[in-house]
Formats: sequence, structure tokens, C-alpha cells
Amino acid sequence: MTPVTRKPCVAGNWKMNLTLGQASDLASAVVKSGPDIGGAEVVLIPPFTSLPRVKGVLEGGPVRLGGQNCHWEDKGAYTGEISPLMLKEAGCRYVLIGHSERRQYFGETDATVNKKIRAALQHDLLPIFCMGETLAEREQGQTEIRIIGQLDGGLEGLTDDEFSQIVMAYEPVWAIGTGRTASPGQAEEVQALIRDRLSKKYGKEISSYAIILYGGSVKPDNAFSLYQEKNIDGFLVGGASLEAGSFITIIKEAIKADRIKQ
Ligand code: PEP
Repeated sequence: MTPVTRKPCVAGNWKMNLTLGQASDLASAVVKSGPDIGGAEVVLIPPFTSLPRVKGVLEGGPVRLGGQNCHWEDKGAYTGEISPLMLKEAGCRYVLIGHSERRQYFGETDATVNKKIRAALQHDLLPIFCMGETLAEREQGQTEIRIIGQLDGGLEGLTDDEFSQIVMAYEPVWAIGTGRTASPGQAEEVQALIRDRLSKKYGKEISSYAIILYGGSVKPDNAFSLYQEKNIDGFLVGGASLEAGSFITIIKEAIKADRIKQ
């Protein structure tokens, strides 16, 4: 397995949006901006049905494909599910695991997240492992305990080598799709907490290479200031990834801020 290097990473989670034609147009626009976004690892995460079409558009280029979820089994009687093996075959390099919408609406737990991460790694898929607190948890001062619980639960039993293949994503639930972004300081506080916890689990060196994304209403006008924070290595973008112009600008802002941060 190749270790993930720490360079800006920006992933667009299209959720349950876009027809095949729209997905293809959006992917083409991202590909066309190639030279401008070459300094970043860019990942497009369309709905499952659009994977083959988007794969065709990305073929041979540096923009990566990801799945929005996977089951932990390779195959079987799990109606409505998709396996990591199938995602790999569909051309995915990444898979989102533990997104808060999966946790909130589809009953995902830290234990299932852990099983999915293990299954993804077995098929050489890089998990983008999401965690985040709700507004109520934040207001009750439970953010730290919630994040550490999700982090420890999701990474339970994973070796250093396995961990080095995982992209972390902090996404405060109260900031997802709400237009209410965490301030750079609020985001950094939790991103630093995550890196610190990783350092305790896997050591300082491995944790210093870990990619920790921020997600939650990232837009062209806040990407630069968020990325300037020490422990923000990129973004998981929902709404703003559905429009080529805003997504590409976010990537460019991350690259620009990364140059200053080096
Ligand atoms: C997300 O879905 O992961 C997300 C961060 O959404 P949005 O950017 O729309 O808040």
C-alpha cells in the first residue's frame, strides 16, 4: 500500500445529486482545470450510478474517484448495499466512511464504521473517515469526548500501516449543509485535538503525515482562511462541490494557502 502524502486534498461529496449528464459535465469541468489544481489531491465522490460515467471522464488523469459508502462484506444478501470490491472495480480510489448523514439517518455506529474501514483497506481503497459533534453536544461541552470516542471506535485495532492509508475528516454536524461554517479557530481546535490523539495512538511521526480534512459549509470565500490553520490539510465539500466554479476555486484557495503555510 502506498502511504498518503500530506498535500492539500479536496474531496467533493455530491451526495444524492446530479443526473448522469450533469455528473459528466461537472467532472469534465474539473478535469479541464487540470493545471490550476495540479498541486492538490482532488477526489470526486458521485452517487454510485454515476461512477462508471465519471470514471470515463477521469480516465488516465490525476483526479480521483470515490464512493460515498460501502458495506463491510464483499458480497451477499444485503439489499441496497455496495461492497468495497465493487467500488474498487468501478474505479474508486477512495471511499467515504462514517459521514454524519450515514450515522444520523442510516444507523451507522462506531463499530460498523470500524468494520467498513477494515474492509475498504483490504481492497486497497483509501477511507475518508468522517467524525463530528452535533450542535447539542457542542453546547453541552461534549465535543472532545464525542470526537475522541468516534476516532478511537473507528480506528479500533488498526495497525500503524493500516492507519497511514486513512484520510481523516472533521465535520461538525451543525456546519454541514447549514451555511454555518466553523470559524478557523473552532475548526483548528478540533483538528489539533484529532492530530494529538493520533500522535498518542500511532506516534508523532505517523500522525504528522496524517491528512485531516475539514468539512462543513466550505465555500470559495472561507477556504483560504480555514486552510491557513496548521492542522487543516484540505476539505470535504458538499454543496459547493456541485458547481464547477466554486469547487475549483476552493481547490485553488487551498493550494494558495498551502504555499504560504510551507
Ligand atoms: C459534507 O457533506 O460532507 C459537507 C461538508 O457538506 P456541505 O459542504 O454542504 O456543508
